Amino acid sequence: MTFRPLVDAFGRVHTDLRISVTDRCNLRCSYCMPLETTFKPREELLTFEEIARVVAVAAGRGIRTIRLTGGEPLVRRDLSALVRLVTSIDGITEVALTTNGLLLAEQAGDLRAAGLSRINCSLDSLHEEGFTRIARRPGLANVLAGLEAAKRVGFESIRINAVSMRGLTEAEIVPLARFCRQEGFHLRFIEFMPLDAEESWSADRVLSGAEVRRILEREIGPLVAEKPVDPGQPAVDYRWVDGGRVGFINPVTRPFCDRCDRLRLTADGQFRNCLFSTTEWDVRGLLRHGGSDASLAAMMDQCVAAKHAAHGIESPTFARPARAMYQIGG
Ligand code: SAM
Ligand code: SF4
Repeated sequence: MTFRPLVDAFGRVHTDLRISVTDRCNLRCSYCMPLETTFKPREELLTFEEIARVVAVAAGRGIRTIRLTGGEPLVRRDLSALVRLVTSIDGITEVALTTNGLLLAEQAGDLRAAGLSRINCSLDSLHEEGFTRIARRPGLANVLAGLEAAKRVGFESIRINAVSMRGLTEAEIVPLARFCRQEGFHLRFIEFMPLDAEESWSADRVLSGAEVRRILEREIGPLVAEKPVDPGQPAVDYRWVDGGRVGFINPVTRPFCDRCDRLRLTADGQFRNCLFSTTEWDVRGLLRHGGSDASLAAMMDQCVAAKHAAHGIESPTFARPARAMYQIGG
């Protein structure tokens, strides 16, 4: 059979699949979750075997990299078993993880042994008070222990993700950058997107990547732009001449939709072609009603074909998706 990549109406080739493994989380970050919520019942979540089947079909259509996310992926029992399943699928070249790091210290060794390639850890503050104000639960010491453990077991180029929100995160910027420079972590600031469950987002609460960069240059020193390693990467990375890297993911002020190569699978088994997608394709229904691999591939084609040119956050007609970040998978 001839190989057919997943190409959308705008010529974008899809090679990356983001898989959420749970909507549960042990934090309650204000930019993501509500304080109180009910989670999907377990039987509605895809099993590891179902996820692996989707990945195998996706790999046959050109998906090469997988990122496991959530909710908090490390609250899903035995995540390293999923990593082992997915890394063994033909065509998959990299399996990465986005985590809040709370449970990383105890799982880093197993994840590494299972073949996990890379870790992104979210961290918004280095002070317990700031951490708890943003995440609305304690846990800084666990995250720091998790980062230590990840280094110790041999993970390289660990990234730290920090969300930038006006009025909430300004004081954290410089300490985070100093810490990451010192520890050799690659820090990336992400602009606040309209995906928070509490719907508090407004354009004036977005602390732009350009503003964060100005603060870093003023307080630490001039930054030099780096050439992107991967043309599809959303981040613009910079380097300080005397060492350390920092990047900016600016989905609001500098959308990168024209380079998007991502598909998403929610924990409850729905395909999405964008974080901001308002349509989903029911993979779980198909898998649980005897759907063939060919029908699964056809569903991927439909999902990709329906992808919009851009998210349109800046448009007056922009409509938020019904689900928040923790339910989609960031
Ligand atoms: N729980 C894991 C974590 O926090 O890394 C994985 C899931 S979380 C939804 C993935 C990423 O999305 C995190 O880096 C988080 O900071 C980011 N995020 C969540 N809500 C966001 C929002 N409204 N705007 C921008 N980034 C957001
Ligand atoms: Fe949990 Fe991650 Fe959302 Fe924070 S950003 S509430 S850690 S899923």
